[in-house]
Amino acid sequence: MSENLLSIRDLKVHFPIRQGTSRLLKAVDGVDLEIQRGESVALVGESGSGKSTLGATIVGMQKPTTGQIIFDGNELGNDKESAAKRMRDIQIVFQDPVSALNPRMDIGDSIAEPLAIHGVGSRVQRAQRVAELLELVGLNPQHADRKPSMFSGGQRQRIVIARAIALQPKLLVLDEPVSALDVSIRSQILNLLLELQQRLGLSYLFISHDLSVVRHFADRVAVLYLGRIAETGRTADVFSRPVHPYTEALLSAVPLPDPKAQRTRQRIILQGDLPSPANPPAGCRFSTRCPIAEPICRETPPSLQPVRPMQQAACHLRAPAVHI
Ligand code: SF4
Repeated sequence: MSENLLSIRDLKVHFPIRQGTSRLLKAVDGVDLEIQRGESVALVGESGSGKSTLGATIVGMQKPTTGQIIFDGNELGNDKESAAKRMRDIQIVFQDPVSALNPRMDIGDSIAEPLAIHGVGSRVQRAQRVAELLELVGLNPQHADRKPSMFSGGQRQRIVIARAIALQPKLLVLDEPVSALDVSIRSQILNLLLELQQRLGLSYLFISHDLSVVRHFADRVAVLYLGRIAETGRTADVFSRPVHPYTEALLSAVPLPDPKAQRTRQRIILQGDLPSPANPPAGCRFSTRCPIAEPICRETPPSLQPVRPMQQAACHLRAPAVHI
């Protein structure tokens, strides 16, 4: 069995800006990404970088324009078989647990819904499974007949997670799963996710704009800028020795654990806003905001190049292509 659970190859997701026009919004524009079994990979970047579109495409909520998604050895397309595989093996958890749960349904019925849809077990067996799942996510199994409004935000996210793992998926796409929660609750939910990963052998694609959360959560990180990966590598390496100027700028805003290092650290403030994915800059997409850009940057797009073992960056100056 291959160690790779998910391989994404040259994935593009383009939308027409308006119906009837040929102009395209290039939300994801040529992304390669791999996730191993049992691994967590974080996808980080500003709002508008394409990270949620990429997550939605992996789970099948969005059709890719071109490229391949290979999951567990099979290419996923838009056919019925791929849809069934996705429904069982890939689940998504969104930011807002309030809108993710039907307020009129008992939480036990919400958690059992995927089991019922797939015809798994009898009613009694499903109720037993719901009790197991509630216990697994740290909730009282006797509260299965309560409505979502009787639970706090953190508890509701636990319920959503219980529903997401009901069918024993292999991959969870976690789209900003703690962003809507109180800061005091966030680490509890992150610890729960790490615990579930250990116990169930899950793989995670963790989508976040918050690098301080990613630092302790993900094995590897991919930094997305305007639909393309700017840098990728092991989390510890990227955080300690970022190569791409965009990664440097993002990391300069993350508080350091050492107060002395924090006092002397310089924050890099990027000029301007993220350009529109409908009209990305020519050459390097970061060239309009990059503090060290040179003329070549505005002409030729850089490709990802290896900089250290398992670390790659797309930058003409910091990670020049080697021509043999
Ligand atoms: Fe900056 Fe040029 Fe590197 Fe792009 S290629 S990140 S513009 S130095």
